[in-house]
Amino acid sequence: MSSSSSSLPLQTLKIGIVGFGTFGQLLAKTMIKQGHTTRATSRTDYSQLCHQLDVPFFRDVIPFLEADNDVILICTSILSLSEVLNSMPLRRLKRHTLFVDVLSVKEHPRNVLLQVLPENMDVLCTHPMFGPESGKNGWKDLPLVYEKVRVRNETRCSSFLHIFESEGCRMVEMSCEEHDKVAARSQFLSHSIGRILAEMGIESTSMNTKSFETLVKLKESATNDSFDLFSGLFIHNRFAQQELMNLEQSFEKVKQRLLKKMSEQQSLSSV
Ligand code: NAP
Repeated sequence: MSSSSSSLPLQTLKIGIVGFGTFGQLLAKTMIKQGHTTRATSRTDYSQLCHQLDVPFFRDVIPFLEADNDVILICTSILSLSEVLNSMPLRRLKRHTLFVDVLSVKEHPRNVLLQVLPENMDVLCTHPMFGPESGKNGWKDLPLVYEKVRVRNETRCSSFLHIFESEGCRMVEMSCEEHDKVAARSQFLSHSIGRILAEMGIESTSMNTKSFETLVKLKESATNDSFDLFSGLFIHNRFAQQELMNLEQSFEKVKQRLLKKMSEQQSLSSV
């Protein structure tokens, strides 16, 4: 774990965002507030919204790639990453660029980026550990996990990381593998339990305990994210399947303990 702060000079960045869904928009707003220049491209036409935000929107990816980007920020879904990157004519890039991803899994984008990008492109893998709801009133003390996978231009990379540092994020430098291990046991687990609670249809009651309120919030937060995001956490994190099995086995163990106790009680009362 370490801070990314350094004595390097900071740069105002031109940031091209690929994938202007909920999370891409959240990031863009803070980047604009900080004085960086942003432009966007996405599968859906966000021209109108971008016009309101004063962000140039490119329907066509070629002029987007040919625009003068210091950073290309990948904010597409986990499931569509390979398709999106493979459909981009990356040879059109005019200059050495820093590619950053914000996907909620880390080994997968690291591998795909290293595979599809020309060797002269820098790669920074990040995971802002907050979402549109938890990050809507600021990012103070919220973690930003990152690995500098291939960084030659340190000034540009530090300037990008500084966007999060200056909002008060807790900067956590960690390998993509370590991130996925920890996230499978924390983030994937909480999303899974939230989805199970949603499946059960739990709702707030007039006699909520604090613990039950926590469960209702967990359900709401899990279902606020797309099912693509949730399934991406499972499909593209090699540690997630084991955690799902652990959850199933633990559920079964707790159930067996309850059933055993019930049968003990029944035998006692029948004496
Ligand atoms: P998401 O459902 O994970 O991703 C939505 C984005 O992916 C949209 O920009 C969408 O483009 C694009 N997309 C989906 N399928 C596509 C396809 N087949 N082809 C091209 N583009 C496609 O929702 P999100 O919350 O906005 O998350 C975006 C990324 O940020 C994800 O990788 C997620 O893991 C990461 N992230 C999210 C959070 C969070 O709390 N939401 C937090 C940290 C990191 P269009 O909008 O143009 O359709």
